[in-house]
Amino acid sequence: MNIVLMGPPGAGKGTQAEFIKARYPIPHISTGDIFREAVANGTELGKKAKTYMDSGQLVPDEVTIGIIEERLAREDCQKGFLLDGFPRTTVQAEALDKALALTGRKIEAAINISVPNEILVERMSGRISCKDCKTVYNLKFNPPAKAGICDRCGGELIQRSDDRGDTVGKRLEVYMEQTNPLLDYYKAQGLLHDIDGNRDTEVVFADVRSILEKLQ
Ligand code: ADP
Ligand code: ADP
Ligand code: ZN
Repeated sequence: MNIVLMGPPGAGKGTQAEFIKARYPIPHISTGDIFREAVANGTELGKKAKTYMDSGQLVPDEVTIGIIEERLAREDCQKGFLLDGFPRTTVQAEALDKALALTGRKIEAAINISVPNEILVERMSGRISCKDCKTVYNLKFNPPAKAGICDRCGGELIQRSDDRGDTVGKRLEVYMEQTNPLLDYYKAQGLLHDIDGNRDTEVVFADVRSILEKLQ
């Protein structure tokens, strides 16, 4: 199962990826998570990515594509993978197809989660995640049992710096300009599945599952 999970920031890609991972044994590859880890570790990649992330811009294609090519070449991806937050530009999508074709693989489904902008803003503003195990919560929609503390591991819950202030609106703009057009790329290939993401997480996942069941 080679799957792409798409949707604007805050749509619930990471949340649905967790559900998928629990049921299907495929690696979950999130470019956002890879970049955040690199920033936290102060690596060369992190230094490159940080300024773009902080201003709500996309990290340049050549950087992002290189990372994904390397990741998809690894053994654990040969029987399937779930991409979350990649591709985000048509250049990335074309590079992805090219890289997969070299090893006789291809994308089998692009699942697009749609949510109205005002809800996305609410979701991003309320998003908090565990510093240690990275579990994602929401102050309003999915709060932890104890404020500020992760239910799963007891770790500290923190807010992403790009979920604050002006960056939220900028990311929505960048999504509309650079990523939304990509839906046509997958639609033209008959791979696009649209899902209404403005419902409870379990209800959204029921739709995701019915798409994935047909692929198996
Ligand atoms: P993305 O990876 O697309 O940016 P996340 O999965 O991190 O999105 O979700 C963004 C925020 O919205 C998180 O705080 C998450 O807990 C919350 N969230 C995710 N899905 C739903 C949903 N269906 N209903 C309400 N809140 C949700
Ligand atoms: P969200 O879906 O909530 O916007 P992500 O964790 O997917 O969050 O992305 C966070 C940031 O990481 C993006 O705003 C962007 O700067 C960078 N990023 C993630 N994926 C990509 C990508 N495929 N191409 C370029 N930049 C990316
Ligand atoms: Zn935790």
